[in-house]
Formats: sequence, C-alpha cells, structure tokens
Amino acid sequence: MPEVDQKPTIDIEAIAKKTPEETTFADLGVSKELCTACEKLNFKHPTEIQKESIPWALEGRDIIGLAQTGSGKTAAFALPIIQRLWDNPQAFFACIMAPTRELAYQIAETFEGLGSVIGVRCAVIVGGMDMMAQSIALSKRPHIIVCTPGRLQDHLENTKGFSLRTLKYLVMDEADRLLDMDFGPKIDQILKVLPRERNTFLFSATMTTKVAKLQRASLSKPVKVEVATKYSTVKTLLQYYLFFPLKHKDVYMVYLLNELAGNSTIIFTRTCNDTQKIAIMLRNLGFGAVPLHGQLAQSKRLGALNKFKSGSRTILVATDVASRGIDIPLVDVVINYDVPQSSKDYIHRVGRTARAGRSGKSITFVTQYDVELIQRIEKDLGRKLDAFPVEKDEVMMLQERVGEAQRIATLELKERGGARGSKRGAKPDDDDDDDLEEKTGGQHNNKKFKQKRRH
Ligand code: AMP
Repeated sequence: MPEVDQKPTIDIEAIAKKTPEETTFADLGVSKELCTACEKLNFKHPTEIQKESIPWALEGRDIIGLAQTGSGKTAAFALPIIQRLWDNPQAFFACIMAPTRELAYQIAETFEGLGSVIGVRCAVIVGGMDMMAQSIALSKRPHIIVCTPGRLQDHLENTKGFSLRTLKYLVMDEADRLLDMDFGPKIDQILKVLPRERNTFLFSATMTTKVAKLQRASLSKPVKVEVATKYSTVKTLLQYYLFFPLKHKDVYMVYLLNELAGNSTIIFTRTCNDTQKIAIMLRNLGFGAVPLHGQLAQSKRLGALNKFKSGSRTILVATDVASRGIDIPLVDVVINYDVPQSSKDYIHRVGRTARAGRSGKSITFVTQYDVELIQRIEKDLGRKLDAFPVEKDEVMMLQERVGEAQRIATLELKERGGARGSKRGAKPDDDDDDDLEEKTGGQHNNKKFKQKRRH
C-alpha cells in the first residue's frame, strides 16, 4: 500500500463541510485527466458517496461504503483505483467482485469509460461464459479483473500462470449480497491467495451484521463512509401501492401498463415461472416484454437486458436476479408484481428507478395476503406509501381480454416445458421468442406456482 505513506494532500475536513454541488472532482484530489473523463460522461459534480469516499481512498485507506443504489458507487471506487493505476501501471492491479454477472459487466463498462484516457484493460471473469476465452483474456494481463467469486476461484485454481499475488486493490460490490449467498467459503479461499498488503473496499446499499465478520478478515483500519440510513430511498422516487384482490392481479397490471405506455418499466416477480408466464401473456396482448431470470442461459440474460437497455423492448419482467446493482439509466417505473419478502429487497428493486437525480415511480401490488408484509416494509422505510389512483370500472373492462391472454400463456408455458416449437398464441416473429424458450421450471415450478396461488 504505497499510498498510506504519502502525505495527505487533500483537505478532507474542508470537503466534508461542502455540499456535493459546491465540490468539484478536482477538490477531491482527482487528477486533471480523470476530471476530463468525468466531464465527458457528464458527471458535473461528485455525488455524495463519491465526495465522502474518494479522498479517503486516495489517501490509501480501506473503505466500507454504505450508499443507496444509483448513488454513483461504482465511480466512487473506480476513480481512485484508476488514478493509482495511472501512477503505477501494472497488470492485475485491482479485482472487483460482484454477486451477479450482469453487475460485473456493468462495472467493467464504468472502468472502461472512465479509464479510456489511460487505456485501462479490463477482463470480465464470470460464470456461464467460455472458460477458455477467459483464460486467453487473463493471459493478456489486464489491469482490472471484474468477476463473480466462483469463476475467479476456478481460474485461480486451474488457469496456468494466473495469480493475483501482485494485486493492489480488492473491491466487493454489493458486499452484503456476496456474504448472503453461498459465496462465503469461496471468498475465504480467494482471500487466502491475495496479498495482505492491499487496499480493500466494501460497497453496498444495505449491510448486514455479517459484514463485521468480513471486516475482521480482510480490512485494515477501514473508514466507514455512510451516506444513507439503512432503509432510505431517494427523494425523487414516488412510491405507490395498489390494493386489489389477488385474482385481479394480472388485470390491474395490464391496466397499469396501458396507463403508463411509453415508459420503460421493470416488473419484478418472485419466481422464474411467473416471470416467464407474464412475459408470454404481455406479448400476447401486444406489449414489448422480455423476461430476465436465473434459469435463462447467460447469453439470453445479457440479450434480454440489451434489448431493454437499447429501448427495443420497454418492459422487462424480472426476478430479483435483476434487482441488484444493475444500472439501467432510463427506467421510469418499477412494478412490484409481488411484494418483496424483505425491506432490503424492496430498496434494491425500487432503486432501479429514480437514479442519479432523475425522477421515477414505483408501484407495489398489494393483495389481501400481503398486508402484513407491506406494513413491515413501510415501518422500515419510516413512511407510508401513497395509493396509486385507478378507475376500478376501467380496470375491470379489461378482464375478458386478459383472461384469454392468461389462458394462452398457461398453455404455451406447458408446451414449452415439454416439446419445443409447437407454440400457440404469441407470434413466433422474432428472436425474442428464443428468450421465452428457455427452461420454465416445468412441472415442479408449476406445482409451486399453484400452491402459492392457493396459499
Ligand atoms: P451506480 O450507483 O454506480 O450504479 O451509478 C448510478 C448512475 O449514476 C450511473 O448511470 C452513473 O453513470 C451515474 N453517475 C455516477 N456518478 C455520477 C456523477 N458524479 N454525476 C452524475 N451521474 C453520475
């Protein structure tokens, strides 16, 4: 950690007194070249988390950053790393770990965008992609590796000549998630082969107490930078709920999508099966919807995301796989088709909209079975959600059409679960149909689906 020994050059106390709008990237110690890179990306002022963490990072401190989604977390760790890389160019300079593949690609994009001035080379090392192609990418000795832990460990064990012994920075993005999921033992293994003499940054929107454990394992005298309370959402986000009996859920959804036509919308559901079925149903009703869930092959997941990002499809139907860390700047509306199981999940889902100062809406569907769950979320948020205004009679006029589309979707889903290709209803007119042809969970999921409905 050569930076630790450097004399402080940034007046952290003076910066703390200023608002983000009164601060420039140069005030934080960001180099001229990187300030220009920020300007090119239209970053006029640092965001709160950038203002609070960049000076410490440039001073060589370890960081635990707690900031809400869409707050500019990625650049908060990317800028100091790129700047130090510039001072001391070397291969395998930093390793960024993320819990999902999509997030890893997105982080790499930020590094490439900000680092293009110095020709930063990134390799994305995630599961579901070709191992050999990744080994070749690693043999080219990139500066930055962005990875999911499992695949990184695989390469550390099996790819000849690859090691992270010279690593200077380790970042865990969505750190609580990395610990929540089954990554714990893998991360322990990886930490064993990383040099102790490095900087470590943990970033997350929400942090569980488990982070304290990790902190003991891998951080040295970290600075805790907190710009959000545990369950806060941004002010530009309008949060609504819509209450109706469970049996009318799809009718309300279709009504809402008609009302909000033209907006880019993510619909979050609880199961892969629901995601698939809703996407088919919406297609049958003429909406441009793509599904995104964990049972799709990686290439299909990226394909779905790209169609949505490019605007060729305006509705993304997704499980929580898509709710973490993915930056889709132009999402106008988030619909929670099912009430999320926890306040943490709620924050992550609605955090897909109203990012970086833009406004956005979230609408959470509440049925007779969800009242307790939503009240718990409201309590954690410290506020009540507003009722979304609807004309009930107008909603019910859609009942017949939606019922027919539901029937077609159910049939189609069954067929897809069995023989490929004999589809009904949805026009097999473009490659989107491929997205819907992946495993749907078959009988097992269907059973679960019915059980849930009866519940
Ligand atoms: P993140 O929280 O890293 O996912 O970033 C959310 C969004 O904010 C991304 O689209 C970034 O490009 C954007 N962003 C990051 N920093 C700034 C900034 N200082 N000013 C304006 N937009 C920013």
